[in-house]
Amino acid sequence: MRSGDAVITILAGGTGSVKLVRGLVGKTGDVTVVSNVGDNYWLYGLYMCPDIDTIVYGLADLLDYDRGWGIKKDTFNFLRQMEVFGEETWFRMGDRDTATHLIRTNMLKNGRNLADITKWMCERFAVSTRIIPITDNSVETRITTSKGDMHLQEFWVKYRGRDKVEGIQYVGCEKARPNPEAINAMHDSDLVILAPGNPLTSIGPMLQVKGVRKELVKIRKKVVAVSPLIGDSAVSGPAGDYMAAAGIETSPYGLATMYSDVCANIVIDTKDRAMAKRIRNLDVQVYDTRILMRTKAAEQALASFIIKQVRV
Ligand code: GDP
Repeated sequence: MRSGDAVITILAGGTGSVKLVRGLVGKTGDVTVVSNVGDNYWLYGLYMCPDIDTIVYGLADLLDYDRGWGIKKDTFNFLRQMEVFGEETWFRMGDRDTATHLIRTNMLKNGRNLADITKWMCERFAVSTRIIPITDNSVETRITTSKGDMHLQEFWVKYRGRDKVEGIQYVGCEKARPNPEAINAMHDSDLVILAPGNPLTSIGPMLQVKGVRKELVKIRKKVVAVSPLIGDSAVSGPAGDYMAAAGIETSPYGLATMYSDVCANIVIDTKDRAMAKRIRNLDVQVYDTRILMRTKAAEQALASFIIKQVRV
């Protein structure tokens, strides 16, 4: 595949995914991002879509890269005032970010769907890449811990992931309908990428939406996953803990066992080359390179590698 020709769809979460999305957009003009919605959350009557916003802000060059969320140099006056009113303020939201949540919530209340709102949002932020929520219906990733069942945001942000994970549920998946545009984009692409996002809380909820897994199984040969783990550790965040809780080996091999029905290719770090044979036994082709994206150059290098090296 030549870089100028590649039509790519990437199924994406937030902080890990946005780096590869940016790299791809720098390398080929035809990228569609299908976004997770499982970590969307209602707070103060506002509807937040952290994964969609991270991709929009990332492509608009507004993302606060150090934090991995929100708008850079944002102020926090709204949150400070909520504190004065005695509200909980564990979910950090900057003033400009709050405007995004507010306008989205108003549009939803006026009957517009999430896909349309996201399209409108991209126009306002001058993002030309198509970003499609996997579904317009409500899907909620919930974590069961030793302290009880809670929304993913509560587990990870409010309680800082400190309780032992006992299980993960995707509430609403069985009734959710995928956005037809997302399915069409996957169908029509040369390559479909499962971003290096959390396999249980970013990519997992999307695979549980009816019709998505079915489509991926059909097009498996052109699907490539990028590992969010090097060795037995996630590059960041709780992916390893979630995999362990689900009884899955915390390694790129474990990831391959999760995805092997929907993907025929995986990109792992060169350090994990020794795992390739075990992965190939799952009927998954293995490509190794440097998968850590600490700089824009590294994002583009990984994107180029995928476009040029993965043979589908
Ligand atoms: P979040 O879970 O909402 O923060 O967002 P994502 O699921 O998109 O990102 C988290 C995942 O990205 C984690 O599992 C990380 O291990 C992975 N990740 C973060 N940075 C990198 C990177 O530079 N390279 C790779 N391969 N994975 C990364």
